[in-house]
Amino acid sequence: MELVDELGAGHRVWSVGIGAAGWMDLDGGTVLFSPHLAWRNEPLRANLQRLLRRPVLLTNDADAAAWAEWRFGAGQGEDRLVCITLGTGIGGAMVMDGRVERGRFGVAGEFGHQIIMPGGQRCECGNRGCWEQYASGNALGREARILARANSPVAQELLATVGGDAEQITGAIVTELALAGDAACRELLDEVGEWLGLGLANLAASLDPGLFVIGGDSARRGPAGGACP
Ligand SMILES: [Zn+2]
Repeated sequence: MELVDELGAGHRVWSVGIGAAGWMDLDGGTVLFSPHLAWRNEPLRANLQRLLRRPVLLTNDADAAAWAEWRFGAGQGEDRLVCITLGTGIGGAMVMDGRVERGRFGVAGEFGHQIIMPGGQRCECGNRGCWEQYASGNALGREARILARANSPVAQELLATVGGDAEQITGAIVTELALAGDAACRELLDEVGEWLGLGLANLAASLDPGLFVIGGDSARRGPAGGACP
């Protein structure tokens, strides 16, 4: 609300567009489910319209990111674009022939929840072995904490960085240490990179895109971020 008020100072704000983390219905009114938030069948658009007193256009955050890349960013001019956002989890979206492909029920592009390791790590979505459990910033932090809790000799630099408290280790810290040359963190980052590549190869085989655009907080932290033709 503060942002709308701030932007509204000196301008007429007719409507508000929001990209939210969750699986939207096709109508864009309800967040059906959000693995990382408490929303379950949340009537988000109606709630926001009541608060903001303006029409609200609601869409999935990865869909909004892909549309922005296609219109203004790294995906301009590409008719078959797949956008991946790396952060807490893995967001995904597709722009095909000039429109965001949302699927039959509005939840196309949830690539982070493709099962890549049957019976593997439990995911917030309820399944096991989802891609985002292996190739996200969260995965990187989890693997590093396992090493640190065991007081592994290779994790001493990591532990020193967080004052000996393994629970403070995050994917961002691991990435920074890897870039600074720490061998264990480089290995952890390599593993996440391999999982990332495996999932992208699956997407390339099934969707045949002209371009992947990889964004999100975790992508910015490493030299591998950017567009991959
Ligand atoms: Zn999942």
